[in-house]
Amino acid sequence: MSPVLAPAQILLVEDNPGDVRLVMEALNEAPIATHMHVVEDGVEALAYLRREGKFASAPRPQLILLDLNLPRKDGRDVLADVKRDHDLRRIPVIVLTSSDAEQDIAMSYDLHANCFISKPVNLEKFLFAVRTVAEFWLQHVKLPAE
Ligand SMILES: [Mg+2]
Repeated sequence: MSPVLAPAQILLVEDNPGDVRLVMEALNEAPIATHMHVVEDGVEALAYLRREGKFASAPRPQLILLDLNLPRKDGRDVLADVKRDHDLRRIPVIVLTSSDAEQDIAMSYDLHANCFISKPVNLEKFLFAVRTVAEFWLQHVKLPAE
C-alpha cells in the first residue's frame, strides 16, 4: 500500500481566469494530489509567500507557477524578489507565460527561474504541459524540506 501523502501546495500567480481554469483542470487530472492557491497579481503573490495580512496562515507552496505579465507588480519583479529572498528562493518557480520572446526567456533564467514554459495555444498541449510540470517537480525532483 502506498502512503497517503498530503496534497502538494501549488501557488498559481495568474491574472487570466481562463488560464486559471485550465491549470486547475490539468492539475485535477494529474496523478498527484495537489492543492492550488491562486493570486491574481504580483503584490498578492509576495504577500502570500511572506504570509502578510490575509495570507497569515497560507501554506508554503512546493511549487510556484508564475505568469510574467501581471497587474500591479510584474512577474519579472516577483521572480527577482523570490530568488533574492533567503526564505523563498528554494521554492521552484516555473514561469508559465504566453510570451515566447527571447528576451523574456533569457531574463527569466538570469533571474533564476527554475524553468520557462510558453503556454501552448492548443488546449491538449496546454493541459499536458501543466500536468508534466507538476509530475516532474512534485514527483521526480528531490526538493529540500523548506
Ligand atoms: Mg497575465
